[in-house]
Amino acid sequence: MMRNVNYAGNKADFTMKKKFEDPKGYRYCRRCSELKPLTSEYWFANCGNSEGFLCYCKVCDKAERKRRFQSKESHNIKRICKECEKFFWAELGKINKGEAKFCSQSCARRRSLSQTGINNIGEKNPRARLKETQVVEIKKLLMADTSVNYIAEKFNVSIISIQAIKYGRTWKHVL
Ligand SMILES: [Zn+2]
Ligand SMILES: [Zn+2]
Repeated sequence: MMRNVNYAGNKADFTMKKKFEDPKGYRYCRRCSELKPLTSEYWFANCGNSEGFLCYCKVCDKAERKRRFQSKESHNIKRICKECEKFFWAELGKINKGEAKFCSQSCARRRSLSQTGINNIGEKNPRARLKETQVVEIKKLLMADTSVNYIAEKFNVSIISIQAIKYGRTWKHVL
């Protein structure tokens, strides 16, 4: 019986699949080409398949899983997060593309916020974000020798945030 296969794969896959004609109750493994009885002893179940089994035999499927697992292992490289300086595992492909610099999305976000000049030091309090107009005001107060504690309280941000502005660690571009 010639089975109707959906040829989503490459050309080699196409020709390979097409030449198999499975006897009733048996199937040729699409990888090792061995004829095996179509039972759960030789094939893993697959609900999407018409006969309810995968097109690779158990032996091949296990080998394939092992191969995938090992290639995943070899492509994972230990790196140090540029933001929090913790170790994390990165894929080689991403490293080659210049990605995978941070351990997590939140570290990447934190870095991009600090690079765009948004005050990230008081970030434990999400409400403690300053607007540019407020920073201008803070800078004026700092120039007038107003105490850092007073300014922090007035704008509901941490003292560290105000000090960062004072010493030019954040908001450098605001005059
Ligand atoms: Zn096989
Ligand atoms: Zn991190």
